[in-house]
Amino acid sequence: MKQRPHKGYSYMIRRRLPLTAIISSTLIAGGLFMLDLPKTEETDTHLHAPLSISASGDHATVSVGSSAQAAIQSKTVEKPLDKMPDPYVKTLEVGSGDTLMKMLLNVGINRGDAYTAIEAMRTAYDPRRLRVGQTLDVTFQPGRHQDMPHLFQELRLKTGFNKDLFVTRNSDGDYTAHEEEQELITTLHRAEGTIDSSLYVAASKAGIPAALLMEFIFAYSFDVDFQRDIQKGDRFEVMYEKITTADGERSKMGNIQYASLSLSGTHLPIYRYKEKDGHVAYYDDRGQSAQKALMRTPINGARLSSSFGKRKHPILGYSKMHTGVDFAAPRGTPIFAAGDGVLDYVGRKGGYGKYIRIRHNSEYQTAYAHMRAYKKGMYKGKRVKQGQVIGYVGTTGRSTGPHLHYEIIRNGRKANPMKVRMPSGKKLKGQELARFMAVKNKYDAQYAKLEPVISIGRLASAAE
Ligand SMILES: [Zn+2]
Repeated sequence: MKQRPHKGYSYMIRRRLPLTAIISSTLIAGGLFMLDLPKTEETDTHLHAPLSISASGDHATVSVGSSAQAAIQSKTVEKPLDKMPDPYVKTLEVGSGDTLMKMLLNVGINRGDAYTAIEAMRTAYDPRRLRVGQTLDVTFQPGRHQDMPHLFQELRLKTGFNKDLFVTRNSDGDYTAHEEEQELITTLHRAEGTIDSSLYVAASKAGIPAALLMEFIFAYSFDVDFQRDIQKGDRFEVMYEKITTADGERSKMGNIQYASLSLSGTHLPIYRYKEKDGHVAYYDDRGQSAQKALMRTPINGARLSSSFGKRKHPILGYSKMHTGVDFAAPRGTPIFAAGDGVLDYVGRKGGYGKYIRIRHNSEYQTAYAHMRAYKKGMYKGKRVKQGQVIGYVGTTGRSTGPHLHYEIIRNGRKANPMKVRMPSGKKLKGQELARFMAVKNKYDAQYAKLEPVISIGRLASAAE
């Protein structure tokens, strides 16, 4: 770990510093100090609470300045403190139109120090990469005398989940930049519950964050229709990883290692397993892949609005074969690749409007029509993974409203996506199956040992 220079500053006068008046009122102006901690993508993130945020607080009228000013100011104070006061941190949030220089000047740092620090930062990080909403922690060191300006000691910027850039003041008054990477600690957690109203409600009561729930739903999306198959009283279990930085300040969800759904008494366990070749997937307790080769519904939260077969065409008026299924969904809803494969058509295609077709293997293709837009970076020949977003629902081509027209093409013929027999997912065999079983047994044992976070809904209903 790095040494924090809490004391031992030499209060030298640097010639290039302008000996200007001490800036004090700027600290109060502008509402720069964010009272609300910013929301980040990680959960349970704990940030340094800004120590000086209140305009009426002690620090609001304190002046911040250079060592030069400190030296001059010190003469006006009667009695020095016995020891150096503790440094404190201000958290600054990048606002629209902010530059780093502007932000540093706004908290009363003098132009000379701000300039030197920014130049030092440039050796490791381009300050123009700062984005609105990003935060910076700035550490100030108060002087031994109460009226002394506070030294701009350090700037800390998060550059990655466990990476920070520090720009630190040296004893000679210069600034240098260095990056630090923290060790990550992975812990296992267990959550379980009974579904009273919806899986979403039960999962959030059990402390499962939304992103983890999405992973859970995706892992089961080939076997379970979450809009129809879930009944009151169905149960779930999850064992997942939480990744925390060594200082304990940041954490995020890792992977689901094990999950189980009990639907009307049918037990559906899945285990995350990494094959020897590096391929990662979920398998049931017999080593059968939880994923089928193709998704029947390559979209979330959509309603089947028109099924496969002969129908009176809503625009053309006469009876015509409907060669796919339609899912009504709001404009802009993401559309997923139904399986791994290669894009073999990306572009407009007559009545289909904006259209994508994926070749999955020698036998199967899937097609997606009437899109509003393609996801960025989609081109013929591009390889896509199952569940990857390829485009967005729209109403281009011959269409009466926003929907996805989805086709499964088998050996060049259009098949009914709701009925076609899906080529089943992979089944582990031999050595690989033996390795999987060892992992499965380890997860089962770990799960049994963990303290469960039980859904409150379940406890409440049990008490009735
Ligand atoms: Zn259609």
